[in-house]
Amino acid sequence: MTTMEHNASKTRRTRQREIILSIVKNTVTHPTADWIYEKVRQLMPNISLGTVYRNLKILKEMGELNELDCLGSNARFDGNTRQHYHFTCQKCGAIVDIEEPVHKEIETAIAQKTGFEITYYCMGFYGKCSECR
Ligand code: ZN
Ligand code: MN
Repeated sequence: MTTMEHNASKTRRTRQREIILSIVKNTVTHPTADWIYEKVRQLMPNISLGTVYRNLKILKEMGELNELDCLGSNARFDGNTRQHYHFTCQKCGAIVDIEEPVHKEIETAIAQKTGFEITYYCMGFYGKCSECR
């Protein structure tokens, strides 16, 4: 591969990643990888699902987005990287951000009781959203 070809594929990879990140950052719905893939394909028709998965993993490792791993089997992605909680509507499945309050004291209390170092925890709220209730 020539330097020019190398740079071209590097640019393409960077552009793919930027598009994927902007899609996740511009929605509040906590989308699945499949949903993100469908959106990316509208802009980059030749992209594969595997490439989307790989980029989501890289972006997660870079701290650019979060994966919601306390909401069950179907992985959801979140462009909001601030510490916050989630409310899941048990009727329509909507996942909504709850920004306040974040209880840092839970981490401190568990750390003191157990001697563990807590780096992360997740807390989920469930019920009916205002549309569904
Ligand atoms: Zn609902
Ligand atoms: Mn969120």
